[in-house]
Amino acid sequence: MLSILRSIGLVFQHAWRRRETVRYPDVQPYLAPRWKGRIILSRDADGRERCVACYLCAAACPVDCIALAATQDEHGRRFPAWFRINKARCILCGYCEEACPTYAIQLTPDFEMGEYARENMVYEKEDLLIAGEGKYPGYDFYQAAGVRIGNGEKPGQEPPTDPRTLLP
Ligand code: SF4
Ligand code: SF4
Repeated sequence: MLSILRSIGLVFQHAWRRRETVRYPDVQPYLAPRWKGRIILSRDADGRERCVACYLCAAACPVDCIALAATQDEHGRRFPAWFRINKARCILCGYCEEACPTYAIQLTPDFEMGEYARENMVYEKEDLLIAGEGKYPGYDFYQAAGVRIGNGEKPGQEPPTDPRTLLP
């Protein structure tokens, strides 16, 4: 009897408390900027693709769900001819973003990626590449890492050492 009264008391005690549930999707939950959700490929401030098709993200992915093929433009700048992510296998671990030297691939705070058919979860480059810079505005890998000039040597710079000349 005592436990029944205690249970009824608990019901009334909680009945007027603030509710933690939200009326999704009318009310969107707050997602922190570093939340690991939808994967995108970003561009630099000049609108060029940041991805240099180095394959590091594909190598770092623990479930092998990234595939791409590299090509290059008339100036020798590399970019992916195609880029594919199988989101049905992706575990949203963020290793690809950690491995990327150019901030091209990013996990963004968006979780609304549900599909009824698994084949619709294979994202091609046109599904991934956005028009903007994403989470890292102002970053340009080519500015940070240097640009190859001519044969790779800057004016006045010594040519690279041939390691074979150092052999005993
Ligand atoms: S978030 Fe993890 S599992 Fe998903 S593509 Fe990137 S490395 Fe692979
Ligand atoms: S997204 Fe980043 S890590 Fe992946 S191939 Fe492009 S530049 Fe390399």
